[in-house]
Amino acid sequence: MQDAIQFTDLETQSKRIRPNIDKAIQRVLDHGMYIMGPEVFELEKELQNYCDVKYAITCANGTDALLLILKALNIGPGDAVLVPSFTFAATAEVVALLGATPIFIDVLLETYNMDPTSLEMGIEKARKLNLNAKAVMTVDLFGQPAEYDIIENICKRNNLYLISDAAQSFGAHYKKRKVGNIGIATGTSFYPAKPLGCYGDGGAIFTNDENLAEIIQSLRVHGQGKHKYDNLRIGFNGRLDTLQAAILIEKLKIFPDEFVKRAEVAKKYSEGLQDLTNIKVPAIENFEIAKSSWAQYTIVLGNNIDRESVINELKKNAIPTVVYYPKALHSQQAYNMYPKADTHLANSEYLARNVLSLPMHPYLEEDQHNHIVSTLRKIFSSKMLQFSTNAQCNVQ
Ligand SMILES: *Cc1c(COP(=O)(O)O)cnc(C)c1O
Repeated sequence: MQDAIQFTDLETQSKRIRPNIDKAIQRVLDHGMYIMGPEVFELEKELQNYCDVKYAITCANGTDALLLILKALNIGPGDAVLVPSFTFAATAEVVALLGATPIFIDVLLETYNMDPTSLEMGIEKARKLNLNAKAVMTVDLFGQPAEYDIIENICKRNNLYLISDAAQSFGAHYKKRKVGNIGIATGTSFYPAKPLGCYGDGGAIFTNDENLAEIIQSLRVHGQGKHKYDNLRIGFNGRLDTLQAAILIEKLKIFPDEFVKRAEVAKKYSEGLQDLTNIKVPAIENFEIAKSSWAQYTIVLGNNIDRESVINELKKNAIPTVVYYPKALHSQQAYNMYPKADTHLANSEYLARNVLSLPMHPYLEEDQHNHIVSTLRKIFSSKMLQFSTNAQCNVQ
């Protein structure tokens, strides 16, 4: 092996498109329209085409995308929004920031996404607490779309908006639908390490609702009306800058190719690891129902395995890993006072203890991939298991 294995390889990607990026940046410097320049609107058109959606509205980051959606739906104090507990903090943060109450829902062990049964319990909880349950915010964790057929049905029956936090799943499909066409609105992130990332912060909102799109467009520029100094509502500065839009236009051109390559990397991981009894790989049978964008490839280690030792052993073999996420949100200091669907969100807690994300990017080379799989196979054959059995004996 020549190159070190990267967890996310933005360097190789940047080499691939550097001349076009340089030219795109040059164009912006030449016209000088740094805020709401022509590239912002060009990118929005490209995103609409790519996602097959009526409106794509760019914004400053993925968190703002979710905030703009909630604000446009008038969600505030007294309202509850049901969110999964096993996710990045931004999902619940935006709800709390608007003075509404996030209610934490458990996730499924198979997809790491919102558990519909737990969701029903969360709706019941909102009723008991006299909160006005207004919306469900699903997350497509690691790029895998949530269980939308069932969740959409629950939302309809309970008169709830469905909002999709697709920060990690740009480009993914759910059955025949592209992410961006599910629920009332979808938010995504262009943070550098997301499947489609810029060279700074960026985000977008997708919706097919004309009225909502208009409100969001106004909110992201201080609630402005037709005229720049005409203020219809309280908004904020949530714009994407022109340079990032210009970069995203170039990155979107290679995205379809990268999407396919990520799926190939994921498939090879699963084929190489699925027979190991102490590792659970993302379910391959889900690949066709819901096409993940593979933001991460995340395995679940058996309960008797010491995750730290696995991480260290991989590190010794020059294999970087990350734990997304070591603590479920309902257990975090900032969020533990908010209600949850059940006394224990057992799956969220289990996953926080046992997940491990492996290197995932479209430029992972075959020999690097083989090295990762064979190292894991070595770790999980006799030696490591003996170690964990001994460790357990010591505890007893
Ligand atoms: C990254 C992420 C966000 C926030 O996106 P930013 O662009 O970093 O603000 C929100 N939700 C989830 C699930 C994320 O992974």
